[in-house]
Amino acid sequence: MTTIALVAHDQKKDALVAWAKAHEADLQGHTLFATGTTGGRLQAETALSVTPLKSGPLGGDAQLGAMIAEGKLPVLVFFIDPLSAMPHDVDVKSLIRLATLYDTLLALNEATATGLIRGLPAPSPT
Ligand code: PGA
Repeated sequence: MTTIALVAHDQKKDALVAWAKAHEADLQGHTLFATGTTGGRLQAETALSVTPLKSGPLGGDAQLGAMIAEGKLPVLVFFIDPLSAMPHDVDVKSLIRLATLYDTLLALNEATATGLIRGLPAPSPT
């Protein structure tokens, strides 16, 4: 079982929800965290059990960064929007920086996320 965080910027939330649905069987059984709004969508629209943190702009990205720094988050799926300015750009950069620093498995787009999830070991049966 692996701890995985799922995050999507607003313009990418539909894509992340669709991706999570398509990979529900792979994600099920892992421990899932998400930023607030992303987590709410995943809980409402998929069968996945997700622990929501604060919304990204209100500190959710920083919470995930802290988890990475503490060695508690080995996998981050972060569908970023490269076409919009973010009020919390510093938090986004910090999260990506920490994920890079700590050698986190980091997917910033759908193709990488799909490659990553296919390479993960199967969850152990519960
Ligand atoms: P959200 O945060 O899931 O609360 O929208 C994502 C982000 O913008 O970092």
